[in-house]
Amino acid sequence: MKTKTLKKNKVNVVTLGCSKNIFDSEVMMSQLKANKFDVEHESMDDDAEIVIINTCGFIDNAKQESIDTIIRYAEAKSEGLVSKVYVTGCLSERYKDDLEKEIPEVDAFFGTRDLPRLLKTLKADYKHELVGERLLTTPSHYAYFKIAEGCDRPCSFCAIPIMRGKHLSTPIEDLLKSAKSLAAQGVKELMLIAQDLTYYGLDIYKKRNLAELIDKLSEVEGIEWIRLHYAFPAGFPMDILDVMSTKSNVCNYLDMPLQHGSTKILQAMRRGITREKTEELVNEIRAKIPNIALRTTLIAGYPGETEAEFQEMYEFVEKMRFDRLGIFTYSHEDNTHAYNSEDDVPEKVKKERADKIMELQSGISYELNQLKVGQQYKVLFDRVEGEYYIGRTEFDSPEVDNEVLVKKADGYLRIGDFATIEITSADHYDLYGKIV
Ligand code: SF4
Repeated sequence: MKTKTLKKNKVNVVTLGCSKNIFDSEVMMSQLKANKFDVEHESMDDDAEIVIINTCGFIDNAKQESIDTIIRYAEAKSEGLVSKVYVTGCLSERYKDDLEKEIPEVDAFFGTRDLPRLLKTLKADYKHELVGERLLTTPSHYAYFKIAEGCDRPCSFCAIPIMRGKHLSTPIEDLLKSAKSLAAQGVKELMLIAQDLTYYGLDIYKKRNLAELIDKLSEVEGIEWIRLHYAFPAGFPMDILDVMSTKSNVCNYLDMPLQHGSTKILQAMRRGITREKTEELVNEIRAKIPNIALRTTLIAGYPGETEAEFQEMYEFVEKMRFDRLGIFTYSHEDNTHAYNSEDDVPEKVKKERADKIMELQSGISYELNQLKVGQQYKVLFDRVEGEYYIGRTEFDSPEVDNEVLVKKADGYLRIGDFATIEITSADHYDLYGKIV
């Protein structure tokens, strides 16, 4: 057995899955640091005594990636390369009993709302005074900003409510305190996230309160961009568009997963909205905010999806011309409502359909990007890569959307700063520009 000098009290946190998991890891790391642990995120040193894996349990691929990561660290433990391995997050919440049996090398498994218990296991205390505090793992000028946990929606394909529980909004005053603390640390952009952003407030304020929250956040000094992710179409609170149209630091950007373009499939998915109503909503949003960038997510191969229904979705994408679009192939998730139906669309057909939609979208994205050539945009620079500075406009969220590339030879740009850039050329997903 290879032995290695492991750093006592050093914790390596590994995060899988979505931005909500990143947020949870950052909160956990802040608590660990306050308890005098030396904590790192996805450390390459491999000298940490303790590893905590924050898993994802969303769909097949994500689950497999989480299991592979747990096994990798379990093997490292049996080789003496790490002393303790703890697992938390969605996969652990969903399959704790099975995982305990199958991977006994893991010291303990925790759920998605188990941070105090995890800390106790490490002989640490949960420090309430730190509520809203985080150790950022993103570049220091932007941060994911989770405004609520869980979801009350009945979407038939989705296992998230099983893993994340009922919708629970974070009170506005706690969110404002957290936003001010982030701004004081130099954060300029907040990505508002939740399972269903538009449900915000219905539990604790008995009304949809997202508009008031955004309005108040837009007053926080130093916050230059507020971006909205994971809006739900049914019952969409139009008043947030009033805030978006009047507050210059609320990005003209909206991520709203729509899942499909056929009313029959939308009803089977229990999405509470029809194709017609969806189009009406998109048109209303575009009428209110003409240059808004709309991002959406779709699913190909839902049980019973016929070629004709897929064609309906294809025509929907062709007609609506979304600015940004991602698509998943349907994953047959146990304990969801859809699990009662037969997963009858072959994987090969699911993939072919998803590829067809992305090919269509790539052409739409190319055409829409050509319209940006010659225009000037406020760009936030995230990193340097090779001979380029890489940034984003207000119409692009990190990791998932278009990027703006400016040659280093063109002049000096500081990472984390804004600059005005004139777009000189564009391809399918990237824009090229020069400093104005
Ligand atoms: S809104 Fe629907 S798809 Fe989104 S997390 Fe909730 S149940 Fe899942």
